[in-house]
Amino acid sequence: MATERDGAVGLGDVLSVVRTHGPLTRADVALRTGLGRSTVALRLEALAERDLIRPAEGRPSTGGRPASTFAFNPSAGVVLAVELAATNAHLAVTDLDGTVLEAADSAIAIADGPSTVLAIVERLGGELLRALGGRRRRRPLAVGIGVPGPVEYATGRPVSPPIMPGWDGYDIVGKLAAAFDAPVLVDNGVNLMALAEHADRWQQADNLLFVKAGTGIGCAIVAGGRIFRGSQGAAGEIGHIAVRDHDDLCVCGNVGCLEAVVGTVALVRGARARGLEIDGPRDLVELVKRHDPVAVSLTRDSGRVFGEVLAALVNALNPGVVVLGGELATAEPFSAGLRELVYQRAAPLASQHLQIVPSQLGDRAGTRGAAMVAIEHALDVAALAA
Ligand SMILES: [Zn+2]
Repeated sequence: MATERDGAVGLGDVLSVVRTHGPLTRADVALRTGLGRSTVALRLEALAERDLIRPAEGRPSTGGRPASTFAFNPSAGVVLAVELAATNAHLAVTDLDGTVLEAADSAIAIADGPSTVLAIVERLGGELLRALGGRRRRRPLAVGIGVPGPVEYATGRPVSPPIMPGWDGYDIVGKLAAAFDAPVLVDNGVNLMALAEHADRWQQADNLLFVKAGTGIGCAIVAGGRIFRGSQGAAGEIGHIAVRDHDDLCVCGNVGCLEAVVGTVALVRGARARGLEIDGPRDLVELVKRHDPVAVSLTRDSGRVFGEVLAALVNALNPGVVVLGGELATAEPFSAGLRELVYQRAAPLASQHLQIVPSQLGDRAGTRGAAMVAIEHALDVAALAA
């Protein structure tokens, strides 16, 4: 049981119920947290001192006099959210509800290495925070960043990320914490996208897979409503699963990896070999939309190869929902080929109620998820107590 002598006990719970259910009266908060009335009053006072809650419109109590109610104050601070992909960076500054206040995109090459890419993040992030003007605090309460590769969760360091040369073991946390004077949380970008899609649309789905099909191939696993990371953080690294009857050389050094066969780099190369004059994956997706037969057939074949691997994942994990993200997800023949193989090859019990759906958040999913983890960290009881 909570005691009033311990000033932090229940602080997180009180903040959490006001955030989720507010505006609430003291009595509502006591009822929902199980804390005593006097403890609730003290915690509300402590949170108000930190500007995290504020008095809301009163509502009439039974006696006719308005009871004081309290609401979460999302303007108490901001967080910086960053998503790095192979060829672009998305940045957003959000309030503590995740509402985007400022945002910017930039073309990058993740393969240029951490010094170059993080210098761009520092410059753009600084510009976004300054653009808040006098309205808000310019120092973010936390920074969340997603990268396109495996991250050792305990340290936030990328580990042998195949499409990120120069980033192996790099201290992203240290670099950005010094730049923004804030705690930094690093994760594999697909995990952040999965968190965002789950919170946005699929909260009722306890078990969900988010698969990203673009330059890199990634997968995040939501199990029991939470991100499943495995022992070190490598769970979901599906890009280098070997596929049948292919011997394409992969950036990782192996041959026949899923990413080397169906990633956009391979697709664009294959399309050019078949005579299509295209600059990159976007052109290919455009040709697909215009029903170019070669582009349609190539992307459908890619979807089928991906679908065979996905069927194995569906058998192993039995998700209720598979969310498709990444550039290829918007190409209809890709998702059609993928569905065909999943429903053909996955066990009936695993596939009969399975929904395969496109990402709702598109290229905003990464920053949305990065903002979510930054906000949760900023509001963590430990952070409050510190
Ligand atoms: Zn590989």
